[in-house]
Formats: sequence, structure tokens, C-alpha cells
Amino acid sequence: MGIYEKLGLTPIVNATGAVTRLGGSRLRQSAIDAYQQASNQSVPLEQLQAAASRQIAEFTGSEAGLVTSGAAAALTLGAAAILAKLDSGRMEQLPHTENMPNSFLVAREHRSGYDHAVRASGARLVEVGFNEQVAGAGVRRVETWEYEIAISPQTAGILYVYHPQSHPPLPQIIEMAIRHNLPILVDAAGELPPRSNLRDLGASGVDLVAFSGGKAIGGPQPTGILCGRKDLVASAALQMLDMDDHPDLWSPPESFIDRSRLFGMPRHGIGRGMKVSKEAICALLAALQEFVSEDPSSKNVLFYQWLEQIQDSLSDVHVNCEIVQSTVPEVPPRLELTLKSQGSQDAFRICQQLRLDTPPVYVGHNKLEEGTLVINPTVLNEDQIAPLTDALIKVLSDSES
Ligand SMILES: *Cc1c(COP(=O)(O)O)cnc(C)c1O
Repeated sequence: MGIYEKLGLTPIVNATGAVTRLGGSRLRQSAIDAYQQASNQSVPLEQLQAAASRQIAEFTGSEAGLVTSGAAAALTLGAAAILAKLDSGRMEQLPHTENMPNSFLVAREHRSGYDHAVRASGARLVEVGFNEQVAGAGVRRVETWEYEIAISPQTAGILYVYHPQSHPPLPQIIEMAIRHNLPILVDAAGELPPRSNLRDLGASGVDLVAFSGGKAIGGPQPTGILCGRKDLVASAALQMLDMDDHPDLWSPPESFIDRSRLFGMPRHGIGRGMKVSKEAICALLAALQEFVSEDPSSKNVLFYQWLEQIQDSLSDVHVNCEIVQSTVPEVPPRLELTLKSQGSQDAFRICQQLRLDTPPVYVGHNKLEEGTLVINPTVLNEDQIAPLTDALIKVLSDSES
């Protein structure tokens, strides 16, 4: 009996992808090995994070880096670092920010549920621009001047959510932010692959970038990376690390945290509840090493073959199958199944029925309103292709009758 069956659960066929609510990606074997080895000995955490910082800097081209408990935690810590900098008094005060510049400019079209993580630091979001295209009441995207006119003495920084279609283009925002001496915090949590984004964003001139460790990198689900400016990464680290050392003995590696710049030794900060274990740090570093050095094309060819196999098996049911290749390099293909004659209600019902099947099947639900189910192969096992195909044939044939 498997570990989940012992708990009374039935493991699912995850055709949705490396999403957090379904447990993220499959942990790489190298990360499992690192996790186990790391557990056998002890090291001071600030020394381990300093070593992680050097490795992350190497892979991203940033000055420094920190392993966080996920990209969301990286966003909270990144915002906290921009608010407090190396001021121990401000660190102590967060999330209360009344007496400091506390607003982050964010395009209305960049807002999402994830920005709660930024607000959790005490930051206040000030929206700029509109979302005319979504409203269907206009055609223009947010423009850089709209950030510029919103800058006030209360402005602490800029929150930018990166994806290939993000607007305004990041270089424009960087140029504007430099002119106004404002730091930029970038949410790029799900923007790997392509692997080149590690460096393209890490060395782009933005101040801090957040990546997820438990998505494509294949590290532990509750890990992430915050990389960027050394002083800000130091502030983020100080606000996360356990600070119960003796003040006369505490000596973090100077290259990572320059104690001489601090007025006093901060106590536990706002990120103390977002701690990362030595095991998780080592596992993330092992996964990152493998992620940057592996060519994803052979994996993607295999994924394509699986999707073709499913497509062939569905030739007799009433559905349009299309294998969609992303325009973004290195991103795995997906299979879109669009119902021929039915509407979104049927797609919704089919999606729901698949979840009630044995084993439960979870497909991507982001295009249900267009009558489309999405099969993402990244977390599937080879031996799940047959049960997945059977479940799809059954539910799609039923829906015809
Ligand atoms: C996944 C995601 C996050 C959260 O990342 P975690 O590593 O799960 O904390 C934040 N922002 C965006 C855009 C994401 O896709």
C-alpha cells in the first residue's frame, strides 16, 4: 500500500502540470539525495545561505541570492527588504509601515492573487494604468508614463509581474526606475523555462527577482529563489533567519551580511515564519544545478510522443485534438481537447467527472469556457498515459450519448 493510500487517499493522475494545489513538480532524484545527505550533519544556516547565495549568483548573474520557502515568500521578503533595507528598527516594525515610504506601484493589469504576498510585508499597492483589453472597452495597455506620474514621496518601489507578453516592456520600466532611484521587485515565479530567464532577469538591472523552486526547477515544493542586489538580499535574509545567536558571538559571513552596516542585531523578522531548512536549501541547489545543465529538448520530444499517443487513441470520439507548442523556447507541448458540438457547461461537467473517476484525473481547467480541456504532460508518469487515455475515452464517449 502506498503512502497516500495508508492515509486513506487515492493518488491522482496529474495532467494539469506542476501546480502547487496538486503538489507541484516531481522532486528530482538529485534533490532527494541532497535532502537526505544534508540531514546527517549540521551547519550554521547563515553560512549555508551565504554558500547558496554564491551559487545562485553564478546561475543568475545577480549579485546575491537567497533560498526562500517558495516564490510567494520571496515576494514578501523582497518587499520587506525594499521597505526596511538594512534598518533594524524598520525590520522590527514590519508589517507596520506608516512612518516610511510604503507604496509599490503596480500596473492594474499585473495584479493577481499572488500580490497578497507583497502586501503581507506591509507594502501598499498603488495601481497604475487600466485593464482596457480585458474590459473590452479599449485597446491600450499600461504605459510607462503612467507609473511616472504616480510616483510620490511615499513610493518605495515597483512591483513588476513578468511574462513574455508583460507590458510595458521590462527595459522601459528599468530605465524609468533608475531615473527615479526606485527599486523593482519582479515576480517571475512561473517563468522557467526557458532557462535563459534565470540570467535574462537576474542580470537585467532589476533589483530583486522571485522564482519558484518547486515548479520547473524540480526542487522541493516549498522552495523558491530571491536574487538580486546584495544589500537587499542581505536584508531579506536577516528578516527570515533565526536570530537567537548571542549578539557578541553572531558573525554572519561578511560577504553575505555586512554586520558593520547594521545598527544592532535584528531580532526575528517578518519572515521568521517562512524559514527554509538546511535540507530544503541543499535540495533546491541540487535541483537548480541539474535544471540549468540539462537540455530539455529530449524530455519535450518524449512528452510530444505521449500526447500523440493520446491524440491517436481519441480519433473515434467527438473531440478536436490539437498538440500546441509554446512560442516560448523549452516549454513542453500540451494537448488541447475541444468539444465539437457542446459548450463550456459540458467541458466543465467532463472536467468534474474526470476528477470523480478512479483514479481521479485532473486536467487543466483554464480554457473550460472555450469548451477546451488541457492536458499538460510535465508531471505525468509513463504508466499513467494508458489510464489517462481510458478515462478520457470513457468520459468523452459518454458525453456524446
Ligand atoms: C506560482 C506563482 C507564485 C507562487 O510561487 P510559490 O513558489 O508557489 O510560492 C507567485 N507568482 C506567480 C506568478 C506564480 O505563478
